[in-house]
Amino acid sequence: MRIEEFDVVIVGAGLSGLRAGLELSNKWKTAIISKVFPVRSHSGAAQGGINAALGNLEEGKGDTPQSHAFDTVKGSDYLADQDVVMFMCEEAPKIVVEFESMGAPFSRLESGLIAQRPFGGAGFPRTCYAGDRTGHALLHTLNEQSIRMGVTFFDEYFVIDLFIAEGKVAGLIALDISKGELVSFRSSYIILASGGFGRIFKRSTNAVINTGDGVGAAFRAGVPMQDVEFVQFHPTTLYGTNILITEGARGEGGYLFNTKNERFMVKTAPKAMELAPRDMVARAIETEIIEGRGFENAYVHLDLTHLGSEKINERLPGIKEISINFAGIDPIEEPIPVQPGQHYSMGGIGTKFDGDYGETDLSGLYTIGECSCLSVHGSNRLGGNSLLETAVFGRYIGRKLIEKGLPTKASSNKIQAVEDNAIKNIERLLKVWNENKGKKPVEIRNKMGETLNRNVGVYRIEEDLKKAYKNLVILQQDFLEVQVPTENRRFNYGLIRTLELRSMLDIAEATAFASLWRKESRGAHFRTDFPSRNDNSYLVHSMVFRGREGLEMKTKPVKLGLFEVKERKY
Ligand SMILES: Cc1cc2nc3c(=O)[nH]c(=O)nc-3n(C[C@H](O)[C@H](O)[C@H](O)COP(=O)(O)OP(=O)(O)OC[C@H]3O[C@@H](n4cnc5c(N)ncnc54)[C@H](O)[C@@H]3O)c2cc1C
Repeated sequence: MRIEEFDVVIVGAGLSGLRAGLELSNKWKTAIISKVFPVRSHSGAAQGGINAALGNLEEGKGDTPQSHAFDTVKGSDYLADQDVVMFMCEEAPKIVVEFESMGAPFSRLESGLIAQRPFGGAGFPRTCYAGDRTGHALLHTLNEQSIRMGVTFFDEYFVIDLFIAEGKVAGLIALDISKGELVSFRSSYIILASGGFGRIFKRSTNAVINTGDGVGAAFRAGVPMQDVEFVQFHPTTLYGTNILITEGARGEGGYLFNTKNERFMVKTAPKAMELAPRDMVARAIETEIIEGRGFENAYVHLDLTHLGSEKINERLPGIKEISINFAGIDPIEEPIPVQPGQHYSMGGIGTKFDGDYGETDLSGLYTIGECSCLSVHGSNRLGGNSLLETAVFGRYIGRKLIEKGLPTKASSNKIQAVEDNAIKNIERLLKVWNENKGKKPVEIRNKMGETLNRNVGVYRIEEDLKKAYKNLVILQQDFLEVQVPTENRRFNYGLIRTLELRSMLDIAEATAFASLWRKESRGAHFRTDFPSRNDNSYLVHSMVFRGREGLEMKTKPVKLGLFEVKERKY
């Protein structure tokens, strides 16, 4: 077996992994592992923009990092950790200017300053953008910088499991997809930046690679999942395909209409209207559909026609293309049919209460980006804050580790033993899968996605959640004997999809479990049987562990103190 040794290994070449790599490769022997070529990472799909209180527009002049932090905490329904939110918002202007100096092609105002647009839940127009292809612009910028800095990449390597020696992370096992061989990466620092897991749902705006492999690997190593009941359903995904129609479309002035030609957001958020936070807009749309005011009982209209062709062509060219190519609708002429769809994972790899941001309870293991739960988004993320999170904490973690210095390694005998054991476990698993006995992975995956869509959606209730949890436990059993050829491992995408499913099932099960446990409504988690927020019992982070008898719940306090916990009104 091939063995690679590094000071630090980063899993993921999206914005968070690349930004951390840029910082670390300057000083230490650093590897970035990615299951796809870096610029195919999901960050490239981000559309609407990145938040920073720059105050570049006249109506944004009074904006400050403090107002940004306040909006973020309020948007999170007060579950976000306030210290980490404040840190992110203070770093935001610096991080956007840094992107600019690296050459990111932001859209501009007449004055030459970076253009900004209004976004949901934001008190000021603070979302900086590159048309409606912001992620593409930022990802290519960081990738170019990484090439310039000579970062060592392992592209098309699939990370399977971590191994631990003497209580500390000691490395990971990955599959070299093109050669079909298992490779060990030894390192005393591992940063998981492996992205979200939206694909556990059947209908999602996420790329097919968003399967939560890093979350699964950490969970199997004993690190809990935090706040996984909070799933963001984006209000406006294209009916039929669930491709994202950016919040930027409403930021530029788009309206939502039901079959009665009413701007129904007036009932939910009379002041913010279409620019209320996503959880509220998604619920408002779902209610219109449930109560019979949706078109074909399935969608509402997002109308941009009044914006005019010049604005649409300049600021929303990607949305125009998507609508024409995937729905046959030109938004200059007609409204776009939209419905809510899974979009973002507020929860993720659990972090340490009193550690550095992104530090986990497993010594040497850190996590950043969408796979992590730091928690800057609490129970509902504001649009434009995720791109920000990736870069802020990518840079932060790089600097923080260098400041800490390299840890002492476990003894090489011990590392060798745990590495051999990790390989043996994977080989054992692959042997069972190759026996051609059980169900096909696609059957299990389809059932998992349908279960979550049907029973763990925008509106939730005990009876449905119990059903979902029970189904997922059965699917976990089915998965033990899943059937996939594993002998020829070169470019074996059947095997890759099955390894992904292994983590997805754990996350799906934990999501249903945590949603059942949280008997209140907060942010994106709405229980029709417990429709109010209950701060007395649930102003805490959920932490799901795998115990001997199945899943177990613990809690972690929320860091408060900067902003008073209040009712949300928009
Ligand atoms: C359609 C869409 C539009 C969005 N628009 C915006 C927006 O405008 N503004 C905003 O703030 N947010 C937006 N978001 C959210 C934001 O884009 C993501 O949260 C963010 O880009 C995630 O970055 P990341 O670095 O954490 O992960 P990703 O960019 O998803 O990268 C994950 C990396 O991990 C690697 N990886 C995963 N598993 C493995 C494995 N097993 N082995 C090896 N490598 C692995 C992948 O190859 C990839 O390189 C949007 C999301 C979607 C779905």
